[in-house]
Amino acid sequence: MAVNRRFVLPGEAGAGGQGGRAGTDSTRTSVFAAILAEGSLSRGDVADLLGVAPSTVTKAVTPLLADGYLEETDAARTPAPSLGRPSKRLRVNKARHAAIGVKICQDRLIGVLTNLRTEIMDHRLVRLPEHSPGAVLDAVCELAATLAASAPADPDHVLGIGVGLSGHVDAEQRTSRHSALLGWNDVDVAGEVGRRTGLPTVVGNDVNALVVGQRWFGPARDCASFAVVTVGAGIGCGLFLNGGLYTGTSGMAGEIGHVPVQPDGPVCNCGRRGCLEAVASYDAVLRAIEARGGPRCHDIDEAIDLARRGTGPDAAAAAAAFAEAGGALGRALAWLYNMLNPEKLIIAGEGVKAQALFRPSMTEAVRAHTFSTAARDCDETTILIDDTDWARGAACLVIDAAIGALELGPRTPGAPAARP
Ligand SMILES: [Zn+2]
Repeated sequence: MAVNRRFVLPGEAGAGGQGGRAGTDSTRTSVFAAILAEGSLSRGDVADLLGVAPSTVTKAVTPLLADGYLEETDAARTPAPSLGRPSKRLRVNKARHAAIGVKICQDRLIGVLTNLRTEIMDHRLVRLPEHSPGAVLDAVCELAATLAASAPADPDHVLGIGVGLSGHVDAEQRTSRHSALLGWNDVDVAGEVGRRTGLPTVVGNDVNALVVGQRWFGPARDCASFAVVTVGAGIGCGLFLNGGLYTGTSGMAGEIGHVPVQPDGPVCNCGRRGCLEAVASYDAVLRAIEARGGPRCHDIDEAIDLARRGTGPDAAAAAAAFAEAGGALGRALAWLYNMLNPEKLIIAGEGVKAQALFRPSMTEAVRAHTFSTAARDCDETTILIDDTDWARGAACLVIDAAIGALELGPRTPGAPAARP
């Protein structure tokens, strides 16, 4: 895949050299995200929304306009004559670039091709017969090539690839440090995919990718501080604090799944005892049903059906297992509320389909363990997301990184392209 690139991502081979510039501009990405989330904004609106000086907005917008990431539309509001000329509005030029997002799951890959407004233009699902790093990265590269082939033929059109996966991801080093779900340690995901596809590649924790997506196109569009907690096969959490994604010193922030909620509880897949994930994940609920004398359910849907049956000891065992999981989740959420006091908490993931079974005990535990108004002032939202939302979030990661790393100034015709 030959690519004519005009940015190099921080940490990528060649960063800081010819054709690229190390470092990112977080104000520029915040400005872009605000315009994307709102649809269109004047420069003054952006300044008001972000609480920055108009000159800061102008500085951020200039390279985005010069490179066609943003476009000006006709003025939608005409101020009073005494206030001068009407202000033009800015919107994201969706046709300028496409982006590829890939979410790596234990048994499958989900890939999307989006435009610059993160609207999905194509999506694919690939089953993974195994999840060794070599086999999975082969499949990621093949999937990316398939998606890129459905984009316009302009070699500059596909901005890059964002890859999201579970566990500890070091976005700076561009590696998967540890994924218990995949059994990976120190896998150079972005380096390998970038070298083989020729496309700038970013890797991030999958929940963090989802957080960026929820800020750009989900219910957190107007939030400066929010948390996303995902419930399903695992339990994850991503944090967006004071206007930016918070990943901690080494990318580990938000590991709510390993917060201890039952000191003498079951052993977790991390080796410790009583973690939230060991009590409230899918597998944990299935094990708890059996431990209470119920049958071995094959999957969570079977367990939900059993609990909804409502009568008999098996149904009671299933209902009690979901209630126990809800209580544990509520205790962990109370800790999160007390620590962060967020504007919004989004509970997302496949597990939301069981919320009628776990929500009463979860809500009770939150009420019992939160301090003062920590939870009352927070808007709690539950959303059932699908596979493409995860992949779309991964596409946001590469758009975000590309905007932050964009070179300043007009393009020089014939300038040498930076390559990985
Ligand atoms: Zn654990």
